[in-house]
Amino acid sequence: MQVTFPKLGLEFMVNSTAFSIGTFEVKWYGIIIATGLMLAVFYGLKKAPYYHVDPDKLLDAIIVGVVCAVIGARLYYVAFTWDYFKDDPLRIITDFHEGGLAIYGGIIGGLLGGGIVAYVKKINILACLDLAALGFLIGQGIGRWGNFMNQEAFGTPTDLPWGMVSVNTGNVAVHPCFLYESLWCLLGFVLLHFFSKKFQQYKGQVFFIYLSWYGFERMIVEGLRTDSLYLPFNIFGYTPRVSQLLSAVIFIAGVILLIIFRNRKDVMGAMIIDGKMVSTKVKDEVREEIKALKDKGIRTTLAVVIVGDNPASRVYVNNKKKACEYTGIESLEFALPGTTTQDELLKLVDELNKREDVNGILVQLPLPKQIDEKAVIEAIDPRKDVDAFHKSNVGRIMIGDYDFLPCTPAGVMELLKAYDIDPKGKDCVVIGRSNIVGKPMAMLLLHADGTVTVTHSKTLNLKKITQRADILVAAIGKAKFVTSDMVKAGAVVIDVGMNRDKDGKLCGDVDFDKVKDKASAITPVPGGVGPMTIAVLMKNTLKAVKLQNKC
Ligand code: NAP
Repeated sequence: MQVTFPKLGLEFMVNSTAFSIGTFEVKWYGIIIATGLMLAVFYGLKKAPYYHVDPDKLLDAIIVGVVCAVIGARLYYVAFTWDYFKDDPLRIITDFHEGGLAIYGGIIGGLLGGGIVAYVKKINILACLDLAALGFLIGQGIGRWGNFMNQEAFGTPTDLPWGMVSVNTGNVAVHPCFLYESLWCLLGFVLLHFFSKKFQQYKGQVFFIYLSWYGFERMIVEGLRTDSLYLPFNIFGYTPRVSQLLSAVIFIAGVILLIIFRNRKDVMGAMIIDGKMVSTKVKDEVREEIKALKDKGIRTTLAVVIVGDNPASRVYVNNKKKACEYTGIESLEFALPGTTTQDELLKLVDELNKREDVNGILVQLPLPKQIDEKAVIEAIDPRKDVDAFHKSNVGRIMIGDYDFLPCTPAGVMELLKAYDIDPKGKDCVVIGRSNIVGKPMAMLLLHADGTVTVTHSKTLNLKKITQRADILVAAIGKAKFVTSDMVKAGAVVIDVGMNRDKDGKLCGDVDFDKVKDKASAITPVPGGVGPMTIAVLMKNTLKAVKLQNKC
């Protein structure tokens, strides 16, 4: 079918069928709607962590929501064209391909179905609605082009420059309603996306704005349509369409909700940075590369040395071995007794340095008193030093030209990156100046253009300094040391600490329960920085094997 926009000088040949499989025609309409839906789902899953929503649970809500949306849309359509179905209700199913999907029924069904799953799975419903609103705008912005391909859902005749003409419009120029809706929704998406990042004050706010934004547009554009369902009554001689009335209700509800909650602030709560999720992603990437190397005949081996029977060290070593198994890295464990002498340990390190089948060496710290840790670290071949503790590797970190990443600080940087938190220009305060965490952390933040302050036990007025931090990293080793009065509202708080509280429970350096209400993002303990350290260790081991094999 020929479609023209005469005053714009545009002409298109439009065929509603994309292709056929036998006698079954696959319509552009379906392809476009499916594309819009997929993009909306993709965006929603990516954005979910910003609203502290678990993407897995969100996916469950989306799947149920989509099924309920289809059912809702059908019921809506059937209810308003009941004359056609009343003599033969089976047509509701057999004539599924006839008649449109009524968008409002779809939205109501989708929200109900998704809402029930959100409730059962204990996902914050307002956060889900915010995500759904952004998703709807993508879906509708793209999906409306299905109407164009079908040459349907257009408006009344118009003299405006963008009037659209086809056989279906009776060869007169009409309002291209699909275009109005698509542009309005895409513009709404862009604006709300940025609003949600910069200005959102409470969960649900994006959804309420969406209701007003979309309701307003539909209230007007639906009035231009020629194919709508009309209400069985007049208002001052004007017969409103069902969809117009519904849009007006949605618009007014949105505005009322925005007014009611206008003073609501700071109830977004901190985004909980999910170290488990990000570390799995990092390990998955490593796993793929390790597999590719294996396919080329290159094996990757990490030697782990543990001296003595420190229970915490045993837990760390076991976790590292598990990560090796997950990524396909072979691990060799050397468990030495607590009475091992420095010479014996240095001899083992020397052997491991020489072994060609060992790519990375990790000596679990702390070591027993009789062994000088520094001497052992310096004995490890820098090209196998996957902890990046050797002074030549530390020096390279300082100048920003390094092969091996310092595991814990680099894990923190990965977390920031995964959550789109850019240290550039920000006030970054690190509490702690150890060689393992504090100092390299400061270096990496500096390399990322942060304005970095390092504090320690001799720092005067610590609270004053931490209070100005946009990004606060705590690496102290004192349970719940960072209290909420030390944190600026909206700061990003990274808790490196691993301590036991007075009940023996694992906790960080930050008073999580209080600080989470003030920060904009925070790492939990456990489940924050800890898993990242091991993920970066895997990354370093991969780097080692690649360097040693020059690939
Ligand atoms: P560390 O070597 O003991 O260093 C602690 C740092 O905190 C020191 O620089 C110290 O300052 C500073 N500090 C102590 N008390 C302070 C106070 N009252 N005010 C300000 N600064 C203070 O510890 P670390 O090895 O860096 O580890 C820190 C924490 O991170 C520990 O809980 C550790 O278990 C944990 N950690 C976790 C991971 C992980 O994978 N999640 C990895 C490594 C470490 P001075 O230098 O002046 O003494």
